[in-house]
Amino acid sequence: MHIGQYPFEEFIEKVKSFHGSVAPGIIAGGIMVDIARKNLPDGELFDVICETGHCLPDAVQLLTPCTIGNGWLKIVNTSRYSMTFYNKYTGEGVRVYLDAEKLKGWPEISGWFFREKPKHQQNLDGIILQFKEAGDQIFGIQKVRVKPDFIIGKKKAKAPIIICPSCHEAYRSDLGTKCPACQGNGPYV
Ligand SMILES: [Zn+2]
Repeated sequence: MHIGQYPFEEFIEKVKSFHGSVAPGIIAGGIMVDIARKNLPDGELFDVICETGHCLPDAVQLLTPCTIGNGWLKIVNTSRYSMTFYNKYTGEGVRVYLDAEKLKGWPEISGWFFREKPKHQQNLDGIILQFKEAGDQIFGIQKVRVKPDFIIGKKKAKAPIIICPSCHEAYRSDLGTKCPACQGNGPYV
């Protein structure tokens, strides 16, 4: 079994060095990327939406040219375990999701997915082995069309950059008369 261009075991090593640990979610994500690509026309330029910020974005970043930083990957957080590859002009695409109903024969994956045990009690090798055996069997796929508002827009890029009167750092003018941090939405105490 391969994930992307990597033999399965080599992909596990890639995950370790990229993500810092072998997270089951990235293995799931790697299988999902392959399913999505198989169901897209060859040579299509696609963008990606992940519906969770956990793990799946790292699988996309490891295996495709789409990253958060280049804007080809977005997180639209519904908390569903899903990713969508879509044509960046038409929004037509395929959505791949982990199908919880198909997990019945896969107790290790199910235990991880439903958080039945704390992390330190999970059998990581067992989970990995079941992913290798299950492959694409535990996932669903559907055709979707991404709403125009979610297609990576040029709107944001066009808003002028101005200086915040309060902190004197530059920010996007469409976010208000002060930068979001000075409006009270910054991350610092
Ligand atoms: Zn400011």
